[in-house]
Amino acid sequence: MQTYTDILIIGAGVVGCALARELSLRCAADVLVAERACDVAEGASKANSGIVHAGFDAKPGTEKARLNVMGARMYPAVCAELGVPYKQIGALVVAFDEADRSTIEKLLEQGEANGVPGLRIVEHDELMKMEPNLNPAAVCALEAPTSGIVSPYELVYALADHAALNGAEFLFDTEVQGLIPTAEGWRAVTADGDILCRCVVNCAGIGSAVLHNQVSDRKVELVARRGQYDVLDHPEQPPFTRTMFQCPTKMGKGVLVSPTVHGNVLLGPTAEDIPDGRDVSTTAEGLANVAEKVKLTWPGMSLRTAVTNFSGIRAHEVNGDFIVGKAAPHCWEAVGFESPGLTSSPALAAEMAQEIIASEGFGPKEKIVPPQPKGKPFNEMTPEEQAEAVARDPMNGQLICRCEVVTEAEIRAAIRRPVGARTVDGVKRRCRAGMGRCQGGFCAPRVVEILAEELGLPMTAITKGGGESRMLVGEI
Ligand SMILES: Cc1cc2nc3c(=O)[nH]c(=O)nc-3n(C[C@H](O)[C@H](O)[C@H](O)COP(=O)(O)OP(=O)(O)OC[C@H]3O[C@@H](n4cnc5c(N)ncnc54)[C@H](O)[C@@H]3O)c2cc1C
Repeated sequence: MQTYTDILIIGAGVVGCALARELSLRCAADVLVAERACDVAEGASKANSGIVHAGFDAKPGTEKARLNVMGARMYPAVCAELGVPYKQIGALVVAFDEADRSTIEKLLEQGEANGVPGLRIVEHDELMKMEPNLNPAAVCALEAPTSGIVSPYELVYALADHAALNGAEFLFDTEVQGLIPTAEGWRAVTADGDILCRCVVNCAGIGSAVLHNQVSDRKVELVARRGQYDVLDHPEQPPFTRTMFQCPTKMGKGVLVSPTVHGNVLLGPTAEDIPDGRDVSTTAEGLANVAEKVKLTWPGMSLRTAVTNFSGIRAHEVNGDFIVGKAAPHCWEAVGFESPGLTSSPALAAEMAQEIIASEGFGPKEKIVPPQPKGKPFNEMTPEEQAEAVARDPMNGQLICRCEVVTEAEIRAAIRRPVGARTVDGVKRRCRAGMGRCQGGFCAPRVVEILAEELGLPMTAITKGGGESRMLVGEI
């Protein structure tokens, strides 16, 4: 089978989906996103800290610094337009001794040089009033009021949906194995046939170096740097109101404790260089390391309410900066897009879309479709609103996930979205069924049943997360 498209985007993470959205809104070209996994946001974009970094970490003058600060500024508007949970809660980088103090003074200087607003150093007494659960051994902290939190995968789903509403197409379970230049552009080789395109964009995350090295003489090397996390159930009172960082190390931003947009508490990540860029397992050693380090920030931490753990892989480029821009004629890329890549993605996508359109001469889009408005989640409604919702549609009265209070109507809506859920994990991340303390123990069978009905498949064909991860082995 041979497919033709004007623009081929490889990889449906936050970068690929943000770019697909920008291109589909701005130009009349056909946009196709090829993704080797079974859904969007299956790589680093689903497994990270979800912090919209203020921009003090990156060295001034780097692409990381420039795109981080630009991206952070764009977040409130992008998330409001797409209906994605985002909160600007601020962050503190805590110093526990005088060596740490000089690190945060350097971060302050860097942040100011990068143009980050509102940075200041807070001394011990004020700090303990701001965050009473902090270890009293804290000396001082850098406060970054513009730091925020976002649901990273919900952002990617919303970007993909909006791109699809404007004509972008998504091809899943499609790995691009090779890129070959042609007279008209590029030929992308996949197991199901070639995709011919006028221009191509490599947004393949940890897989991006292989494709880069096929098209460019300037070879790059990526290291897979795994980060493991623990997630605590939503407490009545969050231990901290801000994201609490420790001082960064040469391996990254260090271990954090942060509320999530849904009220859970996130602990982590580790930073381990591993040989297999797809190994997202968690280890007893890694999680013990997280727990030990978190206790420096939060001596009262207990894992009694842990609901799950996960890991994500950073695509760390050995020279440390993002490699973004044109890699070859009619070929663009975002390689080594590790943290702050989530924060930087709206800025990168806007810039790159403009460059591609100007360079390839694509005409403007005539009609733009706005994002589909998202209803208020059932679990955030008042009792009166819930009663109205049930009267409107009785499926709102069928509670499927008891832990997170998710209804049948919400699960069906998650599957019916423009780029809808096709797996149990896809449902879980889109509407939170299975995210709670029982981790799908009660609701997974009903979710499988609903997926099978909506997709017109036998229940035995439904997977947890694509491939061979089938939920059921057969009928009895
Ligand atoms: C532990 C950790 C913590 C982080 N914390 C933060 C944070 O708090 N804030 C922040 O700003 N950033 C953070 N980041 C960085 C952020 O997650 C990444 O920068 C961002 O998700 C990268 O997006 P992406 O689209 O480039 O990559 P990905 O999300 O990995 O997407 C790439 C996609 O390409 C697909 N793919 C790969 N090869 C091929 C191929 N050959 N053919 C087709 N498809 C292919 C993959 O399956 C994947 O879906 C963190 C990252 C990690 C791992």
